[in-house]
Amino acid sequence: MDDDIDELARMIQSAKRAVVFTGAGISTECGIPDFRSPGGFWTRYKPIEFSAYLASEETRLEAWRRYFMIYDTVSHAVPGRGHKVIAKLYHEGKVSHVITQNIDDLHRVSGVPEEAIIELHGNGSYAKCLSCGERYELAWARATIESEKRPPYCVSCAGIVKTATISFGQAMPDQEMADARAATFNADLFLALGSSLQVFPAANFPVMAKSNRARLVIINREPTGLDALADLVVQGELGDVLAATAERLWP
Ligand code: NAD
Repeated sequence: MDDDIDELARMIQSAKRAVVFTGAGISTECGIPDFRSPGGFWTRYKPIEFSAYLASEETRLEAWRRYFMIYDTVSHAVPGRGHKVIAKLYHEGKVSHVITQNIDDLHRVSGVPEEAIIELHGNGSYAKCLSCGERYELAWARATIESEKRPPYCVSCAGIVKTATISFGQAMPDQEMADARAATFNADLFLALGSSLQVFPAANFPVMAKSNRARLVIINREPTGLDALADLVVQGELGDVLAATAERLWP
């Protein structure tokens, strides 16, 4: 493990335009469970597909109920060691962008500016009308559900209001996908952190980076589907690995 950390620190030192790509694993030490690990959300609930969400008020109510269960945890979470190291790398000019699959807003809270964060699966700290895009706060959605006993509709256009996250079966956001592609093609080092690299199309980005000759590092607690492609695979707890790397970079 020590050799891997040394190698990782050297790769970061020699990089000029690193891109960080994060999955749920960066936030588990902040108390937010991932979906796939034992005890994770998926082991208890099957995900609600976007088409099912659109099809019935009952399903939407269930989706909101589940979301508020998660959000009560997410809204109290603070950035972990991994988020802090990434923010420092950004401010030192090493990292150009953070592409994240997470919806927990913790990269922004850790100090990475919004323009450097690309949220592939949206942001769970607010809601949006699916028809006109108007923004709604979650407290409004919660109060509306409680008072009207039905899922919320847009005040302006009566469209369906949903958390600003991307559900299974929902189209990926065009702008974010384009921004992520551009950042990936510009990267000389691509760090995939805390992701099973099983959720596509997000998991295509490490492949894209590698085929564009960036060096690829994968850090995860368990093997991923793309380990064979990587220049360096570090298997371990992300917070530990990044904290140890930070000690090498900033002794
Ligand atoms: P994922 O596919 O990104 O997998 C998470 C990976 O992280 C797993 O392989 C797990 O072994 C690893 N991991 C967990 N804790 C770790 C740690 N401390 N150190 C190192 N590795 C660790 O994500 P998923 O859980 O399958 O979720 C799928 C999608 O659901 C995500 O892409 C995201 O959009 C969403 N999600 C977001 C959050 C969040 O915002 N924090 C949490 C859960 C799920």
